[in-house]
Amino acid sequence: MIENNTCEVCQALAHNEPLFETRFWTVTLSQDQGYLGRCYVTLKEHRETLSRLSDKQWQEFVEVVRKLESAMAASFGAKLFNWVCLMNNAYQKQPAQPHVHWHFRPRYDHKVKVGGMVFDDPKFGFHYDRNQVKLVDDSLLDEINQVISGHLL
Ligand SMILES: [Zn+2]
Repeated sequence: MIENNTCEVCQALAHNEPLFETRFWTVTLSQDQGYLGRCYVTLKEHRETLSRLSDKQWQEFVEVVRKLESAMAASFGAKLFNWVCLMNNAYQKQPAQPHVHWHFRPRYDHKVKVGGMVFDDPKFGFHYDRNQVKLVDDSLLDEINQVISGHLL
């Protein structure tokens, strides 16, 4: 069911295959794996700001953070996790339709090889690089998905 027909995030929720989901949140791998394990963590309800989340949604978010961070550490040895809630793009249209979601980027102090492709994080210890983009095909994305799924507790 699409909650808000004019919201791009609500539309995407109806089509994307999640890495895992909880009652309130869904976690999907980005096609851009410039930072290996890059995900979107999206609220399943259309809420416009973090301050509008319910206490239950926050409590469950903590569980998602623990689960995702520990899976990325176990899967690929990620050392650090960059979480940002931006929603800037939503304001490029009028009326703006922001929908709470987090951008999650694991960070690495070493190279990781998956499916014959090498993933690197040359700016480890510094702000992530928005230009570090690595679009992967569906079969590699599926392979990454399977490695992480094997470490979801
Ligand atoms: Zn929405």
